[in-house]
Amino acid sequence: MLQRAALLLLVAFVTLLHLAACGGGSAGQPTPGEHQPQKSGKLMLVATTPMVADVVRHVAGEHMDVVALIAPGVDPHLWTPTRTDTLKVLEADAVFLNGLMLEGRAGDSFARVEQMGRPVLRIAQTLDRKLLLTDPKRASYFDPHVWMDPTLWGRTAAPVADVLASLDPAHAAEYRANAKNYEAAAAKVDHDVELMIAAIPLDRRTLVSAHDAFSYFGRRFGLDVRGIQGISTESEASIADIESLVADIAQKKVPAVFIETTVSERTVRALVEGSASLGHELKIGEPLFSDSLGRDGSAESTWEGMLRYNARTISQSLGGSR
Ligand SMILES: [Zn+2]
Repeated sequence: MLQRAALLLLVAFVTLLHLAACGGGSAGQPTPGEHQPQKSGKLMLVATTPMVADVVRHVAGEHMDVVALIAPGVDPHLWTPTRTDTLKVLEADAVFLNGLMLEGRAGDSFARVEQMGRPVLRIAQTLDRKLLLTDPKRASYFDPHVWMDPTLWGRTAAPVADVLASLDPAHAAEYRANAKNYEAAAAKVDHDVELMIAAIPLDRRTLVSAHDAFSYFGRRFGLDVRGIQGISTESEASIADIESLVADIAQKKVPAVFIETTVSERTVRALVEGSASLGHELKIGEPLFSDSLGRDGSAESTWEGMLRYNARTISQSLGGSR
């Protein structure tokens, strides 16, 4: 009974904090570090996307609990934290985001955690800026889809290990070893994907998909990538954009266009119909994972499984033999 009352009080306290944060008021400033550990006794880490949670889980191993806020299949560009998400963020020992504005509508709950003195790591922002692509339509923005290049994604594990080592110095060596293993596994994925894409005939290496999630993938593996919607799913494709893409597809005889699990099929169907009117048959390939992973328990529920699935699907649909 007493425990339940304490829990209710905690929830009320956290809700107040949230209201104070949303209202921008200065009342209710929390004291850093004043929160209860998880029931398991382990530190609790919160990640935004399933991809970010994948890195953090691998680096944390058995020593910490990791919660992903964004469910598989949910578009991170359009995601806004629910009240439950905000509670989890405020209770976390550390928070991990993709960053580079991927979680563009996430609001200020993460800044709030930083003010509380807990680590908030935007893992894509730990990468050397020289390795990042910019948004062609908004030059001051970087393309956030770095998980599509295994050589970049593998590098994000070491900064995660640094944060975990600072929270739990007793297991620092283990976190750093886990990060090295993750980077090595990413290098293996990189090699295997390279072989799959190399099997596509040279004149067929054009990847057309609903939004520009695959630019890093294309740069790394030598595919010409054309997105319909732009870097963020928040922007809409214009009719002129679609017409020019249709003309290009028909001219290059691109065999297939891909739908994405987090984006509507409507624009992709417009391409198929436009191509047909120019006498070119454009097939719709299997859905690709762009900004998410597969359902829990599926082979694509891990970052590695997702990338291998995407590479295999792209290769087969564009005429590769692997
Ligand atoms: Zn995206």
